[in-house]
Amino acid sequence: MATIVKCPTCRRDVPWRDDSPCKPFCSERCKSIDLGAWASNRYTIPGPPVDDDAFDVADPRARDA
Ligand SMILES: [Zn+2]
Repeated sequence: MATIVKCPTCRRDVPWRDDSPCKPFCSERCKSIDLGAWASNRYTIPGPPVDDDAFDVADPRARDA
């Protein structure tokens, strides 16, 4: 019976093996990516850009104050 874990980097299902050198990651590549993220504060997570105008539209009352 295999234990399945989620790769922290790519969220793939990964069989947990005692002899896996890169667990809980699916591959050495994902392991390197995650360790690199921890090692450097310069690493940025891809996401929607912060837009000040969009923020104002979301709460129009703030503009009237
Ligand atoms: Zn992965």
